[in-house]
Amino acid sequence: MSNPAGDPTSAPHHVDFIREQVQRDQQEGTFAGRVQTRFPPEPNGYLHIGHAKSICLNFGVAAEFGGLCRLRMDDTNPETESVDYVTGIETDVRWLGFEPGETRYASDYFEQLYRWAERLIGAGLAYVDDQDAETISAQRGGFTEPGTDSPFRTRTVEENLALFRGMRAGEFPDGARVLRARIDMAHPNPQLRDPVLYRIRHAHHHRTGDRWPIYPTYDWAHGQSDAIEGTTHSVCTLEFDAHRPLYDWFLDRLGELGELDTLAVPGNHPHQYEFARLQLTYTVLSKRKLLHLVTHGLVEGWDDPRMPTLRGLRRLGYPPEALRAFCAHIGVAKVNSIHEIELLESFVRDELNRTSLRRTAVLRPIKVVIENYPEGQVEWLEAVNNPEDPTAGTRQVPFSRELYLEADDFMEVPAPKFYRLSPGNEVRLRYAYFIRCTDVVKNDDGEIVELRCTYDPATAGGQSPDGRKVKTTLHWVSAAHAVDAEVRHYNRLFTEAHPDAHEGRDPLDFLNPASLEVISGAKLEPALAEAAPSQRVQFERLGYYCADADRPGLFHRTVGLRDDWAKIRKRQG
Ligand code: ATP
Ligand code: MG
Repeated sequence: MSNPAGDPTSAPHHVDFIREQVQRDQQEGTFAGRVQTRFPPEPNGYLHIGHAKSICLNFGVAAEFGGLCRLRMDDTNPETESVDYVTGIETDVRWLGFEPGETRYASDYFEQLYRWAERLIGAGLAYVDDQDAETISAQRGGFTEPGTDSPFRTRTVEENLALFRGMRAGEFPDGARVLRARIDMAHPNPQLRDPVLYRIRHAHHHRTGDRWPIYPTYDWAHGQSDAIEGTTHSVCTLEFDAHRPLYDWFLDRLGELGELDTLAVPGNHPHQYEFARLQLTYTVLSKRKLLHLVTHGLVEGWDDPRMPTLRGLRRLGYPPEALRAFCAHIGVAKVNSIHEIELLESFVRDELNRTSLRRTAVLRPIKVVIENYPEGQVEWLEAVNNPEDPTAGTRQVPFSRELYLEADDFMEVPAPKFYRLSPGNEVRLRYAYFIRCTDVVKNDDGEIVELRCTYDPATAGGQSPDGRKVKTTLHWVSAAHAVDAEVRHYNRLFTEAHPDAHEGRDPLDFLNPASLEVISGAKLEPALAEAAPSQRVQFERLGYYCADADRPGLFHRTVGLRDDWAKIRKRQG
């Protein structure tokens, strides 16, 4: 069991209601002091940052209380699930910093679930219904009016058993019949109005192959899988609170039938607790919607850096430490709320400020010739790798007669308060010298192609012996030594802060057509030629960037330098 507790970036956890509950249970000896949680994704897509909240909670609680957390695939819908998603989920959990151990699957328990279903039938607690899904749904009633009994509700045990066995034997086509619990069609909680336990699906399953023509519903599989595994605290999101009485009903009935006595942890009846799901502005957190973006080519894939998936954020350059610190900070509550994405970004920025190497990149270069600097001369200047981390050391950067500067660090006619380079104005080049612009060279179309400057050799290291001051320090790279790169900037994927919250509109209507900005022709300092795949760096004065995992010479902007969260906080007072 991994535990990022030794990680200095993980803020201490607030003692939330889940942790209070676990602590109380441990003190009172409920579950004989055992603590076991689980993270139960359906492998029908890759994980997103909402799942990170659940992972941090479940694995975090287990680690803090000396318990166990299992990764369980709730794989009950074969058509939409795949092995790729399973292995992708395992990879993502590990990347986030948790060791999931051996993965479990609801499909491991299909046989047990089937036998338990037969037991319910035998006890008169389940029946086979020949009606189609629409009819069953129409008979469910509403919150104020009761449901209607199915005409098949009074079948005998023998008939039900024979039909259910026929379902398993593959004798009926898809949708011909279902198995339902017999509870109460007038139950005030619609979840308990004879819910469906099994559907007929002649579908290939990524693990059980063609063995099963029937599949349990999530409702039937979930609580029983928890019980089988020995889960004590079954933590899920708020929308499942109405399902809790149903899960308890199943386990109570199985307990009365003596079926829980034979479990690895005899009599184990997990308790379910619900917490608020993570929501973020400018984001959708639904695998279905994210899958739509992928299958319609609206993004490059599940790991597109604009995606709120863990693999997208990883490619974007988010450190897992920052995600964990964010989750610890927002805590766990019982009321839904939406967090500003800028808050998340501030955690990313803090982490990267502490840990990333500083490098120089010129994104939109303009050529500068230092006329009084000797041709062919190169000076290697010492530059600090990370002012926040003295152990990160220094590197050598080459200075020569021809440099690249950022085009927007120059204005031929400076605007008011523009203190960067302009004709006649003197600025400092970081780690190097003061330079002054003497001439602007243009082509026939009047476009600037080159700046002519002079430098003051007495200002080596960026200090003037006569004490004269400059207002600005600029970054630069030596033209002859520069490395070419493509740099990608990302804007919000959605134009609306709450894409989900517009009545009658699909959130995808608010996709930002300008979410990706490709900058080709960037010039980098030579040390960046050796950037490792996925290496995170700060481009000085520009932001935090991450080398692409696969393509050398491609960098993604992770987050800018400016703290937008501080501004929002100020606005909120
Ligand atoms: P989605 O709607 O994205 O498909 P889901 O809840 O259907 O999400 P699951 O694979 O069933 O996806 O989720 C696995 C676990 O992650 C569940 O316990 C679920 O409660 C939790 N989870 C999913 N989304 C969030 C979220 N936004 N915040 C916190 N936990 C979440
Ligand atoms: Mg789901």
